[in-house]
Amino acid sequence: MGCSTRLRFSTHMNAATVAKAIKASPLSSVTIAKQPVWCSASFAQSVSEALTTKRKPRQPRQSTQGAKRETDPHNDRDALDAKIEPPKGPSLSGLESLVRRIAPADIASRPVYIALVSDMPVDLRPSDETFGFHATFLDIVFRQWLADAGRWRGRGPCFVINDRAILADATERAGDDAGLRDELYRTRMLATVLHEASHVLTSPLDLRPVPDEIRSDVEKSSRAAVVEWIADKPLPADAEFPPQWAGHEAGFIRTLLHVHHRAEQLGIERLPDNFLFSNSNYSLSGLWSYRRALSREIDGFDSSLTFADLRACSPPQEFVELWRDDLHRWWKWMDHAEGPVQIAAAMAPYVHVLKAD
Ligand SMILES: [Zn+2]
Repeated sequence: MGCSTRLRFSTHMNAATVAKAIKASPLSSVTIAKQPVWCSASFAQSVSEALTTKRKPRQPRQSTQGAKRETDPHNDRDALDAKIEPPKGPSLSGLESLVRRIAPADIASRPVYIALVSDMPVDLRPSDETFGFHATFLDIVFRQWLADAGRWRGRGPCFVINDRAILADATERAGDDAGLRDELYRTRMLATVLHEASHVLTSPLDLRPVPDEIRSDVEKSSRAAVVEWIADKPLPADAEFPPQWAGHEAGFIRTLLHVHHRAEQLGIERLPDNFLFSNSNYSLSGLWSYRRALSREIDGFDSSLTFADLRACSPPQEFVELWRDDLHRWWKWMDHAEGPVQIAAAMAPYVHVLKAD
């Protein structure tokens, strides 16, 4: 079985465990108004929304570009925990600052938190198959840890970057070439940060404060949800698998391309497409073809505008058609026997916002 199949298994299982953990929590008293959710397949649903609506939450974002090890991630954990001296790469504050500068109007004065796996609590570390992940409530999960490190400045977008796995991957690819290893590490770190930042910016930011009287419970429940998600338990026999591209739909791709363009304007070099977006894992066209379809929009979009402004604009027809072609190709590849009506119904959650001019 290919790696992408394994990831599909893992993804579905984790969604179920997160749902179970959150539904079992006593926090249904969290009553925060439901936010508009751009993509129904995304994990841009906050803990508060999941608790309030009792709907199944979506998986944390995962970047699995380059993920190729076939070992049991938990057996590999010891190896990851071994002390590895990282090469000189972009500083944590520099990476956080880069994200803020890419989306100044969206993030404004809020902090951006990047949790490096080499620093973070052991029970929240993902396996080495995961280069990064994001969930809207991760800042809540890491609040105490960030406060202990003197970093907490109130709610802000937060995502995890697995610097250990990225370094291990770079070391394996580079062999004895230390210079190449360092360059692979630096490039992959940057690409993964842009990928996770794009998950942040694909949906409306929901950073409303957690009421003091329930903060402790919310933190506990959120943390438990992530710990459950990280635990790689066997799938039930009747599990249904989400599409491989779930979480990386057209809206995400569009955001990523704009994020990368803005990074280039800030002096970051053109990063490898397969570091930014693992299209083979997602069964989608390469990023270059989406970039070509979106080039005029990218060049013409004022970087002082917000990503919310971008979402309010219809993407070019060429981009929409490419996305639909990808969905149809995936559907045929899955060898489904259903007719066009069923196909349309199955695709609807993922294409409903993409109406071209
Ligand atoms: Zn992702």
